[in-house]
Formats: sequence, structure tokens, C-alpha cells
Amino acid sequence: MRISVIGLGYLGATHAVAMAKLGHQVVGVEPDSKKLASLKAGNLPFYEPGLDEALQQELSSGRLTLVSSPGPEIAACDIHFICVGTPQLAGSDEADLTYVMAAGTELASHLRPDSVVVGKSTVPVGTAAKLRTTMSEVAGFDVRLAWNPEFLREGTALEDSLAPDRIVIGAWSQDDAKELRRVYQPLLDNGVPCLVMDVATSELVKVAANSFLATKISFINAMAEVAEASGADTVRLAEAIGMDDRIGSKFLRNGLGFGGGCLPKDIRGFMARARELGVGESIEFLRQVDQVNLRRRDRVVELAQTELGSVEHKIVLVLGISFKPDSDDLRDSPALDVAKRLAGLGAQVRVHDPEALEALEGRHPQLERADDLEAGFRNADLVILGTEWSEYKAIEPKAFGDLVANKLIIDGRNVLDVAAWQAAGWRLIALGRNVHN
Ligand code: NAD
Repeated sequence: MRISVIGLGYLGATHAVAMAKLGHQVVGVEPDSKKLASLKAGNLPFYEPGLDEALQQELSSGRLTLVSSPGPEIAACDIHFICVGTPQLAGSDEADLTYVMAAGTELASHLRPDSVVVGKSTVPVGTAAKLRTTMSEVAGFDVRLAWNPEFLREGTALEDSLAPDRIVIGAWSQDDAKELRRVYQPLLDNGVPCLVMDVATSELVKVAANSFLATKISFINAMAEVAEASGADTVRLAEAIGMDDRIGSKFLRNGLGFGGGCLPKDIRGFMARARELGVGESIEFLRQVDQVNLRRRDRVVELAQTELGSVEHKIVLVLGISFKPDSDDLRDSPALDVAKRLAGLGAQVRVHDPEALEALEGRHPQLERADDLEAGFRNADLVILGTEWSEYKAIEPKAFGDLVANKLIIDGRNVLDVAAWQAAGWRLIALGRNVHN
């Protein structure tokens, strides 16, 4: 099928490559000239394992072409996926729908009446209906619109796109849903479940899923607050409750909490939309979820201050600044937030990250970049593990001990071997655990 993908960020670039991999003829649209040039050269403008190679393959196969704005290539497409951003609106909980509405309006004047537009961006329930009205006005006919929320996770984005747990299709007509099923036919043949539902439910599925995941993380982080006050151990607690298969052990590790370009803004946008719908109270608990999450960052800053007396002029090494491992995404990163706050309190903060230092370029000049672990550890008064890259889990506790006078480490993700670090002479503080020596 001939497919367009509008917006080539984390979601759109992955989706465009995945669609080409399925054998479709794909045109990607990206107005950011720097991003577009990089993509055209076969270089992803962000880090995503395996996606670079797949992008290069699809560009050279001729199945994927890239343009800066909708034009004749777009008019030739049968299906159009809208993959633009829906960030949090500044000074509000609401989602900023400017990009979705603009992308839809630009697209509308290039549409054929028989083509189907498919929203993949995460949007507040009711957005698709508004978008359909606006696009139909511009197009001069009833635009066929469906919604198909995306569940990929950065770090495993391509795998998730090609073998998702499920495909959700929200459609106003069975014919539109059928067209979309044709797009995904190879995945359906592989046994991927496909749920067809009304559009409002499909919009809600995505924010509900993210709200549930955020709640689960904040639940265990709330337990960590209680454990810290009572001398209990959240890691053992999580292990025990996670064995109940009604609870499950995934997303049940306490630590610095969630961040990134999705969970935080999605729960806030959901609260704002629920208030508009007159049911704000129903999900007001998400406010607590958000606050528990943010308090974990406060906790690490407090611990640093308590342990060091004052952080002023102290050297602090933050290991990992992306919001999660295997990604260079810095949006609302808990580790980066802690690093910036400590720098704001007068600490000399060094940051290390296997992939995200490039994304930091030109931003946050108060943070020193440590090119390698040795340079980072040298003379540090405190080390904070902020993001659980496997490189950090694999650090041999004895390796850098000689470079520091004060062997002090805060494990913000509960991934280090406490006994091994303690045996190597480190004072290790783990969030939610009463293990420090
Ligand atoms: P992003 O900011 O990385 O990408 C958005 C892209 O859209 C940018 O490259 C931007 O230049 C482009 N764009 C903006 N306006 C445009 C227009 N009018 N026409 C064409 N392109 C335009 O954002 P993202 O992380 O890819 O997220 C996109 C959407 O997908 C969001 O709604 C997000 O919540 C959702 N989502 C993201 C992920 C993820 O892991 N990143 C996962 C699932 C869902």
C-alpha cells in the first residue's frame, strides 16, 4: 500500500521504517530541516537500538522516501498516519494539540476522498472528532479518519512496532477499519491481536494504559516512602507482592520514578480532559501519582545534601541522564532534573551517559560532561546512579574506588549489588531500602 507518515520524531520515524519493512511504499514528512537532512542521510537524529540500520536499508530499498511538506507524493497515498507531537501546554496540564490540528489541516488539502487518515499521536478523548470536522471543512468532503494509538517503548521501538502486544483500531466505519487491517496484515498473520472499537475508546485506551503504568510505578514509590520511614525494604516488598500474578513484577521497581515524553504529560493531559468532561474527580488520584513521582527526585536531592552537609562546591557525578536506558530522550528526565537541581544548589555536577550527551549539546551549560567513567569518578564526592544503563550495572565496584576520597553512591534505580559495593568500601544508599552501611 502507499502510505504517508506525517511527523518523523521518535514515533513517526519508527513507524515509517516499520511500514516500509512490511513492504509498503512509504513517504515520510518532516518539516524540521535538520532532522530531515539527517534522516535522508540515513542517520537517526536520536538513539534507538537497531533503527539506524533499518532506516538505511529502507532508504536504499526505495520503499521509503522523505519530504519536508505534503505535496503530490502525499496525494498519491492511500493511508496517512499522523505522528506529530502532543506535548504538555506550557503553564497548564493540557495537551498542546496545535501540531495535530496543523498537520491535519495541511494534509486535508492533499487528500483524495477515498484515502484514510489515521491518528497515531496520543490525544485527549474527543480530539479525533474535532480533527475530522476541521479536516472535512478544508478538504470539502467527509474525510475518512480512524485512530490507531501507538504503544511502542523507546529502546525497543522497532521490535514493538513489528510485534506489538496488540493493535488497537478506533473507527467510525468498518470499511476504514478494514483498510487499516490491510496495512497490518503481515502482523495479523503472525497472530498479533487486533481490537476494533469506537474512536473515543481508542483514544482513551492509550492514556488509560499510560495512567495505569504511571500508577503502578508511583504505587511502589509510595511504598518506598513508607519503607524509608519505617526501616523496611521496598525491593524485598516488591519481590513478594510481584509474585502474585494479579499484581505482577513489571513496573514494580522503586527508584527515581518515571519521566520522558509520554507518561508525565499524558497523565496531566488526562486529568485536564477529565475536568473538562465534568469527571475530574474520577481520576484525581493521578495528581497523587504525579506528586509521588516528583517527590522521589526531591528525595535524592535531600539525600545528597544530608550526606554531604552541603552540596556547594562538591563534585557530584550523575550516571545516566536520559529518562530511561537505551534511549537518548531527555524529555522530563528524572536524572537530568536531579543533576540540574544539584547544580542549582552550587554543586559541581558532572554527567555521564552512554548515548545522551550529544542530545545535551548546547543545553544546560552548568553541567560538565564526563566523556568516560574514569573522568567522571575522579575526585567525585558523590556518585548518583540516575538511569539504569546496563553499563552502570556492570561497573566493578572496586574499579574506580581509588579515584575518590569519599566513596559515596546513591543508587537511584536499585540495580547495584549492594553487598559488592559495600564490600569494596563504598557507602551505598539505595532508595526505599534500609541497607546503607
Ligand atoms: P517528537 O517530538 O519526537 O516528534 C514529533 C515530530 O513531528 C517532530 O519531528 C516534529 O518536527 C514533527 N512535526 C510537528 N509538526 C508537524 C507538521 N505539521 N507536519 C509534519 N511533522 C510535524 O514526538 P514523539 O515522541 O515522536 O511523539 C509523537 C506522538 O506519539 C505523541 O503524541 C506521543 O505522545 C506519542 N507517542 C510517543 C511514543 C514515544 O515513545 N516517543 C510512544 C507512543 C506514543
